Amino acid sequence: MAIREILIYPDDGLREVARAVEFPLTGEVRALIQDMADTMYDAPGVGLAATQLGMPLRIAITDTDWRSGEVRHEDGSEPVAARNLKVWINPEFTWRDEGVVACEEGCLSVPEIYEDVDRPAAVRLRWQDMEGETHEADFEGFLAVALQHEFDHLDGILFIDKLSRLKQSMIKKKMKKRKKLQNS
Ligand SMILES: [Zn+2]
Repeated sequence: MAIREILIYPDDGLREVARAVEFPLTGEVRALIQDMADTMYDAPGVGLAATQLGMPLRIAITDTDWRSGEVRHEDGSEPVAARNLKVWINPEFTWRDEGVVACEEGCLSVPEIYEDVDRPAAVRLRWQDMEGETHEADFEGFLAVALQHEFDHLDGILFIDKLSRLKQSMIKKKMKKRKKLQNS
C-alpha cells in the first residue's frame, strides 16, 4: 500500500502513449493497481490512469460513486475503503454515440482547473479485468464521461487539449506559475 506521486501538467510523462498489459499480471503490476487506488482515494479523485503515475501501461481505475454518494469517515479522517472500485485493463471503445454531452471535467494532473468538455453521451467498451477476462458493456452518463477522460490519458491526451487554444495557453501559464510557487 503506497501513495505515489501524480504527474502534474505540463509533465512530459503525461504525453506518453501507454502499452498493452500482458496476462497473467505480474506482482509489480498488481502492486501498481493497488497503489493507483490508494493514490486516487487519497487525492481524492474519481479516476486515475497509470500514465498519471509515470507508468505507461493501459490501466485505469474509476470509482465514480464514492464521492457523489455519502462518504463515511470511520475515525473522522480516513474515507472508508472503496465503494465501487473498477479496474479497466487494455480498454477499447467499440462504439461511440453520435449524441454529445457537455460535462464539467477536472483532472488530478491539472489541479484546480474545471472546464466543460463535449464528449459522446454513451459508449460501448471492451476491456479486461485483473484475471485477463474480456468484457464488453455500454455506459452512459457520468461514468461514460469519466471512462473517456481516463482512457484519453492512456493515449497521452488531456481534457484541456479539447479546449480552445486561448484557454489552453491560459491554463499552461497558470500551471507554470503554480509550479514556481511550489518550488520557491
Ligand atoms: Zn485526468
